[in-house]
Amino acid sequence: PWEYAPAPESREVANLKPSYRMFVDGEFVDGSGEPLKSTNPATGETLAEVAAAGESDVDTAVRAARRAFENTWSRMPGAERAKYLFRIARLIQERARELAVLETLDNGKPIRESRDADVPTAAAHFFHHAGWADKLGHAGYGPDPRPVGVAGQVIPWNFPLLMLAWKIAPALACGNTVVLKPAETTPLTALVFAEICRQAELPPGVVNILPGAGDVGAALVSHPGVDKVAFTGSTEVGKQIQAALAGTGKRLTLELGGKAANIVFDDAPLDQAVEGIVNGIFFNQGHVCCAGSRLLVQESVAEELLDKLRTRVTALRVGDPLDKNTDVGAVNSAEQLARITELANSGDAEGAQRWTSPCPLPDRGFFFAPTVFSDVQQSMRIAREEIFGPVLSVLTFRTPDEAVAKANNTPYGLSAGIWTDKGSRILWAAQRMRAGVVWANTFNRFDPTAPFGGYQESGFGREGGRAGLEAYLDV
Ligand code: NAD
Repeated sequence: PWEYAPAPESREVANLKPSYRMFVDGEFVDGSGEPLKSTNPATGETLAEVAAAGESDVDTAVRAARRAFENTWSRMPGAERAKYLFRIARLIQERARELAVLETLDNGKPIRESRDADVPTAAAHFFHHAGWADKLGHAGYGPDPRPVGVAGQVIPWNFPLLMLAWKIAPALACGNTVVLKPAETTPLTALVFAEICRQAELPPGVVNILPGAGDVGAALVSHPGVDKVAFTGSTEVGKQIQAALAGTGKRLTLELGGKAANIVFDDAPLDQAVEGIVNGIFFNQGHVCCAGSRLLVQESVAEELLDKLRTRVTALRVGDPLDKNTDVGAVNSAEQLARITELANSGDAEGAQRWTSPCPLPDRGFFFAPTVFSDVQQSMRIAREEIFGPVLSVLTFRTPDEAVAKANNTPYGLSAGIWTDKGSRILWAAQRMRAGVVWANTFNRFDPTAPFGGYQESGFGREGGRAGLEAYLDV
């Protein structure tokens, strides 16, 4: 349906190496686990072999983090820690293009997103927290607020570098040291981040990066030398971690799944709302915990909005993630593609109306065309379960009360969107919605000053803002 001139970013910029090693105590080392293969989801090709940790490596890394905590990092004045964090932030900026291309190769997300969202937001998190490091004593936490200790951090594959920044920047600013496990399918930018730690001359052991699968994450969070666990990932694994940690006295924050409602009232500027709906569900192929995956539209404007939406979605370009014109890239893995397909098929079986964008898909790699289901009922799986893919479920409502009730009819509660011309209605609805973030006339806005986190099965604790710092302080 459209023609355009491809504008591919150079893959050479990523400085891809045939193999990557783990980062422990300031050194790149081999792991005792079975090495991982990093795959480009847009082509299926192997990108690199990556060393993986075994249980003994977890122990070595936690001990290194403990030594660094006791001997250097927690004793260092905040102003000194700030210098390291500023250096890391600047190095992320200096290596931004390399990191963006590598992220796109490893994850499948469009280069435009890794270039304009993931990498600059990661740098912003280090700048923001660098600014906090020397001010914690003046922030109302007492003159000398204490760090918690060694943080064990486990992150998912949807925003590999950004989730790392959300976890590591506040931990380090407050004087904690870190052992972080990236997701098994996307370890590469975390290991380039380890190079940046070396470039910044961060003392050995302050940051340790251990690639590996879920068993490495389980060993890390359960290690007795870990004082604080921060996990972002599925609700299922979050529940397992919470159970495993019960009674240990470890501090825990969980950022889990979501099924956000994006509510469009009849007085909303519909063209603007369409842009927000598209951003809400098709950004990052819908692999977003706070994705606006349930569109709730007021019945009187539903038909008009859906017409506009289909027209807009038809114009989305799906394909080569390295092409600067691409809007929707590759699904991260064959497993995730199978999960999206299965859930979308359940929508057909339960009687929803499927509309698929007529865009051509590449003939290799893992791709799923943008999909909109209308006539969705609240009882359907596509209205209740997190699909974590480019699939939107559209429900309708008649009154504001009904909209809020449907929005809250979920075990999750991470985010929500409201589209209306009435300021009073925004405040009315936002106060009634059980969601950690409520966006009004916008969607997917992130800022390091704003706390992010969930209600109910979306987890607890906040990242960003002062609340995010407090997770890493004994106040
Ligand atoms: P996942 O839970 O399977 O994996 C997340 C991480 O946990 C990976 O690094 C994995 O190796 C590790 N892991 C797996 N089993 C473990 C165990 N038993 N103990 C410790 N670690 C273990 O999730 P995923 O499929 O990789 O990621 C997608 C999920 O993450 C979605 O549900 C999404 O909503 C959620 N997510 C949430 C946020 C948020 O901020 N709330 C952000 C991004 C993603």
